Amino acid sequence: MNQIDAASARRAELAKALADTRSKIPSTCTLIAVTKTFPLSDVKILYDLGERNFGENRDSEGSEKSSHLPPDAIWHFQGEIQSNKIRSIARWADYIHSLDDIGHAEKISAAANHGAGGKIVNVFIQINLDEKLESSNSLRGGISPAELDQFTDSISRLTGLAIVGVMGVAPLGVDPSPAFAQLQELSQELQNKLPKARFISAGMSGDFEVALKYGATHIRLGSSILGRREGHL
Ligand SMILES: *Cc1c(COP(=O)(O)O)cnc(C)c1O
Repeated sequence: MNQIDAASARRAELAKALADTRSKIPSTCTLIAVTKTFPLSDVKILYDLGERNFGENRDSEGSEKSSHLPPDAIWHFQGEIQSNKIRSIARWADYIHSLDDIGHAEKISAAANHGAGGKIVNVFIQINLDEKLESSNSLRGGISPAELDQFTDSISRLTGLAIVGVMGVAPLGVDPSPAFAQLQELSQELQNKLPKARFISAGMSGDFEVALKYGATHIRLGSSILGRREGHL
C-alpha cells in the first residue's frame, strides 16, 4: 500500500469505528476520543470527521497534539497528575478528569490565575471505585468515596478552577455495575453541595454501555475507536 492509500484506509477505518460507537451513545452524552499513543494524523482525521473532544494522559503528548489542532478542539487530561507538569497541563487542557489531591488543585488554581491567562480549568474529582482500597496495591488514582465531602469543601473556594463532576474507572475483571452505581450516588452527593457539578465521567471501551445506564455524561473511548494500543496504558 502506498502512503495515500494507507491514509485513506485509516480514514475509512476511523470513520466506521466512530460512527458505530456514536450510534450506541445518546447525543446528550459527550464522547471523548482517547487518542493517547496514537499519532497526530489520527487526531486530525477524527477532527475532520466531526469529533471535538480528545483525551490524553501525558502532558508532553497532549501539549504537542493540541498545538496542531484548531481552537475549537476540546482537550481532556485524564492521566496521573505529576505536580511539576501542572502548569503545562493547565495551559492546554480544558478538562482535568483525574483530580484527587488538594495540593494539585491549588497548583491548578494558581496556574489558571497566573500562567494560563485567566482561563478556568474544569475538573472532575476522581474517585477510586476499587473495593479493596485498604489492600492499597490499587494502581488507580482517586480519593476514597468517604473523602468526597471533605475534599470538595477543601477545593471549592479555589478560583480558576471549576468542579464539574466526578470521574471513576470501574475495577477490571468484575461486573462494573456496582462501581458505576456507587459513582452515580456520589455524583448526587456532590450535587447536593454543588448543584452545577452534575457531570459523570465514566465508561471506557469495555464498559461504556453499562456506564450509560448509570448516568454517565462523559465517556472516554480509546481502543473501540482507534484500535489496540501498543505499550502504555
Ligand atoms: C486509556 C484510558 C481510557 C480509554 O481506554 P479504552 O479502554 O481504550 O477505551 C479511558 N480512561 C482512562 C482514564 C484511560 O487511562
